[in-house]
Amino acid sequence: MTQFESLGLAPSIQKTIKSLGYETPTPIQVEAIPLVLEGRDLIGLAQTGTGKTAAFGLPLIHHLLSEKERPASKTVRALILAPTRELASQIATNLRDFVRHTHLRIGVVFGGASIHFQKKNLERGTDILVATPGRLLDLVERKALRLDTVKYLVLDEADQMLDLGFIVPLRKIAALLGTPRQTLLFSATMPKQVEQLSQAYLNNPVRVATSAPGRAVDKINQSVHFVSQPDKAALLKVCLAEREDDLSLVFARTKHGAEKLMKQLVARGFKAGSIHGNKSQGQRTRAIKAFKDGEIRILVATDVAARGIDISGVSHVYNFNLPEVPENYVHRIGRTARAGASGKAIAFCAPEEFQLLRDIEKLMGSRIETEGGERPADPVGRSFGKGKKRSRSKNSFNQKVRGRQQSAKWSPDRTGGADASAPGGQNKRRQNADAGETRTSPDNVVAIRDNAGQKFQKPGGNNNPNRPGKRRRVRRKPAA
Ligand code: AMP
Repeated sequence: MTQFESLGLAPSIQKTIKSLGYETPTPIQVEAIPLVLEGRDLIGLAQTGTGKTAAFGLPLIHHLLSEKERPASKTVRALILAPTRELASQIATNLRDFVRHTHLRIGVVFGGASIHFQKKNLERGTDILVATPGRLLDLVERKALRLDTVKYLVLDEADQMLDLGFIVPLRKIAALLGTPRQTLLFSATMPKQVEQLSQAYLNNPVRVATSAPGRAVDKINQSVHFVSQPDKAALLKVCLAEREDDLSLVFARTKHGAEKLMKQLVARGFKAGSIHGNKSQGQRTRAIKAFKDGEIRILVATDVAARGIDISGVSHVYNFNLPEVPENYVHRIGRTARAGASGKAIAFCAPEEFQLLRDIEKLMGSRIETEGGERPADPVGRSFGKGKKRSRSKNSFNQKVRGRQQSAKWSPDRTGGADASAPGGQNKRRQNADAGETRTSPDNVVAIRDNAGQKFQKPGGNNNPNRPGKRRRVRRKPAA
């Protein structure tokens, strides 16, 4: 088994990580650390919880220490970009642990916190700055810092940054950075846009992957309950009551839904809290701390608020609503089974969410085991993976669920669930509002131009003068 000693890190860094209790490097650390030390640009295809912060953080610290430089006022030596406040603050906390016995200064900036305070902190110069893209640009515009001295750049959870519409801020930031520089990109999934981003940012990168993209961490035991939307809250309470000592993270689709569900749980005597975009940064931080300390056992969250957060000991992740973006399922369930532990991911699938479930299974290349309720038949000819093709059953899922609802024997609470809104539609705008940062439209919604240079708003819209309009029916006179 590879040891930290053989990776080439400075002895002082090895000593620090030993004192943090890291005994052996994780697979992504074994792969990435020597390459980053060599100075290579790197694409790391790694899921959350695999130890990727140390994979880029430790060799970066090694470089910065060996250069024996100090940052000038309002400059930065290494920049780490992350999609959310929570992830940025978590990375900064990890890095502060790593540089404990050195002179290196770690800074962190993100939206929702005092910009005045952040400006002041940047004045002294920063060795490693962790930032969310929107707030970073704000600070650059206010002349709180310059980026032309950045020699190391890390894009963490790149797929999430693009998903949140950060492509334009990222392009702006790229134009401000110093060259030559070493760039590292980490992503749990590799959609086309991330591939394009890596081509624009990285120079002859090496790729390292710990597992196939889109595959959920092997140690997570996944299952799905087929249940109607109104019955979900009651089912959740039953599941939570069975496992009172566990730490459970529950994902709801909307901020409103998360809050309502949390209140229902608290009213039933569960120790629960919530994190979402309607909560202040202080409230979110306190809720995460209470969850980490075990004061509350259940945290209800939206995708954006919970993205990338590392809470060891989360034994169960509940998908109260299925995510509309299939990749988010991988991110959500990655909150459990952190650092080699095992965990359980339980999805609640209402009839109207069945297509979302199928999209998730398609991404992962396998079918999720049914734990409760009955799986509806796949649409004709649309089966995939190991599942057999089935014909559309007369007795549809909807009918069955409706029947079950009428006789809902065990259902003690029929409040309609916390988030009964029907799925569908684009949720990016909602996610952006949730993240509470300056956001721009994602690339795929910008206006497009046709060949003649005429601007039209949406593909499919009929405001292109070259396109024939709807043919009018002309009533012809019958021939005489
Ligand atoms: P990350 O994927 O960077 O968020 O890391 C997930 C968790 O694994 C964090 O709690 C880290 O402190 C922990 N961790 C990272 N590397 C190691 C290691 N080599 N040994 C033990 N724990 C680790």
